[in-house]
Amino acid sequence: MAISVLVINCGSSSIKYALISERREDRIYGLAENLGAADARIKGITIGGEPLELSIPYADHAKALETLLARLANYNPQAIGHRVVHGGTMTHAERLTQDTIDRIRHAVPLAPLHNPANLIGIEATLALFPHLPQVAVFDTAFHQTMPERAYRYALPQFLYSDYQVRRYGFHGTSHAYVSERASELAGQKNQGGWLSAHLGNGSSTCAIWNGESIDTSMGMTPLEGVVMGTRSGDVDPSLPLFLSNNLGWDIQKIDNMLNKESGLLGLSDLSNDMRTLVEASENGHEGATLAIEVFCYRLAKSLSALSCGLPRLDGLIFTGGIGENAANIREKTVAYLPHFGLQFSVEKNNSLARGTEGRIDHGTGPQIWVIPTDEEGRIAKETRQVLGQLN
Ligand code: ADP
Repeated sequence: MAISVLVINCGSSSIKYALISERREDRIYGLAENLGAADARIKGITIGGEPLELSIPYADHAKALETLLARLANYNPQAIGHRVVHGGTMTHAERLTQDTIDRIRHAVPLAPLHNPANLIGIEATLALFPHLPQVAVFDTAFHQTMPERAYRYALPQFLYSDYQVRRYGFHGTSHAYVSERASELAGQKNQGGWLSAHLGNGSSTCAIWNGESIDTSMGMTPLEGVVMGTRSGDVDPSLPLFLSNNLGWDIQKIDNMLNKESGLLGLSDLSNDMRTLVEASENGHEGATLAIEVFCYRLAKSLSALSCGLPRLDGLIFTGGIGENAANIREKTVAYLPHFGLQFSVEKNNSLARGTEGRIDHGTGPQIWVIPTDEEGRIAKETRQVLGQLN
């Protein structure tokens, strides 16, 4: 019997959690949000499916975790799995030891916004549940199978050897889950060549061959690659120099602009939210229409580029809030990939709504799948694997 795992995902001002038992329908999940603010609160679902809302004014991460873990203790978690964004060159999930914690800390300069929050979660849960086995599951680990030609930047060698400047890739648990699931549904478990597009607030693409990541669109940080909600994705590396020389911007202002004011938000001058943009575009908003066009074209371009690494293309997978829900985004993207020989079914594509997995091609040529992602489920699975509780 599989053990029940508490999955903790600590962000800069929020904590997502899920308690995952062997029965999928028993899953409890929720989040603590607005941490540090007057309206900090916990929102979730109890085991009976009842909504839970709890006000925790000005609670920080540690306080929120304490409140949360005291409640979840009633459900008897037997292990804890932590999502950790940057694992450096760690290739697998690892049981938490002082050495693992030191290595997560060592990767802080590579993910200064994410790893410190992940460490707060780890330290708080270790203090509160010292006897439970705990595991760190890294967003980067799945991509450690990339060949050197895919992970190296064309930069002076010492930046790689002395400072670990290289491509790492993110969203690993999602790409791993959806590619395994699609290949299973296709009856070829973890075999063949797949391209996956994880499209949420952050977005990335991945090429997978026989179950291993061989290339991905995100790089040393999650800023590289396709157009995202507020992140620019790829731009000319000389842009910061131009902004500094001509507008007098400092590096913080440039970083903020590229991460928080660009992407769909910057292009549309309206919103970072795809649902809002789809509606606005239908009502004639030019910025929204342009943002959607650039998003789909650049996404198709990224998928085409990654396809170079695959000996054969068996299928394309859409996931994440946009990939799972926005039928028109899937249709526009596939329209920019005529050379893939995809036989797209408009009817099947339009019939898929949130949470539904399904195949949206006519059954000839490479397959096209919509697979709702399950990062928490994957973290629980990897936690069990590390602890020797295979399921
Ligand atoms: P996160 O990366 O924060 O986990 P999600 O995977 O939930 O985000 O994706 C959020 C994105 O999905 C938002 O841009 C949202 O507008 C988009 N989205 C959700 N539902 C729809 C829909 N029906 N149509 C278009 N976009 C949608």
